[in-house]
Amino acid sequence: MKLGNFEVLEIDTGRFMLDGGAMFGVVPKALWERSDKADSKNRIELALRTLLIKSKDFNLLIDVGMGSKWNQRQREIFNLREKPMEALLKEQAGLACSDISHVLITHLHFDHCGGLTELNGDGNPTQTFKKAEVYVHEDNLKWAENPNLREKASYLNENWQAYKDSKQLQLVRSKPMEKKEILPGVWIMRSDGHTRGQQCVLLDGGKDGKLFFCGDLIPSSSHIKIPWTMGYDIDPLTIMNEKRIVLNEASRENWRLYFEHDARGAMASLVKESEDKFRLLNTPADF
Ligand SMILES: [Zn+2]
Repeated sequence: MKLGNFEVLEIDTGRFMLDGGAMFGVVPKALWERSDKADSKNRIELALRTLLIKSKDFNLLIDVGMGSKWNQRQREIFNLREKPMEALLKEQAGLACSDISHVLITHLHFDHCGGLTELNGDGNPTQTFKKAEVYVHEDNLKWAENPNLREKASYLNENWQAYKDSKQLQLVRSKPMEKKEILPGVWIMRSDGHTRGQQCVLLDGGKDGKLFFCGDLIPSSSHIKIPWTMGYDIDPLTIMNEKRIVLNEASRENWRLYFEHDARGAMASLVKESEDKFRLLNTPADF
């Protein structure tokens, strides 16, 4: 897809499954199973999508999927089906990992940054992207390095430590809900309801419009209903307010939304129907 000076490509890194109840928090299964069918273990199918933004100055990857450092037991728990990044980039974009100049990680939960490292011959995690600068929000890194008991299983140091050691990490600083341009046309917007210091991404394609990479602020199209937040979110009232602000702006300015975890399709536009109620204009579609 062309968006202003960018060429935007989806790198679809695979599929996994999480508990449907955890994905919809207090929403009863009788409601969420109409849109998201659960398997016999109550898990729903989720995507691990990433975006590659190509411009004349950079090849930027937004999030990197779960990666390959998982043992058999973990693969079964998540029903993980993911390919190594080198093969994915070659197949889907004709690039190598060494061609990636920048990586932006929305937040350091393993399903967004696991692909940053892979195990070398000695079984140690090493950088998948040896030449890339990796943008992480400073407050999210602090949060990830001193995780609370609830999020501890999602923040795994093995995913980012190698980049700290090699000084490839670029720390982003910003205030809650502040928008900040980190590369020409690439803006981050910080949110704190899912975890502390998540950075969602707004790509400004000028006359081609704007594309918003929702991260875990709105993980799938099912989550555009404001009260449909995840059990994983650390602060449901904060995330509801953040979603309200984003969805209002998105409908006003006609942004396209990109859903990282939606297994049905990635991108949709929306319209505001009434206060706090939004409707998708199209079934989420890949491009
Ligand atoms: Zn997350």
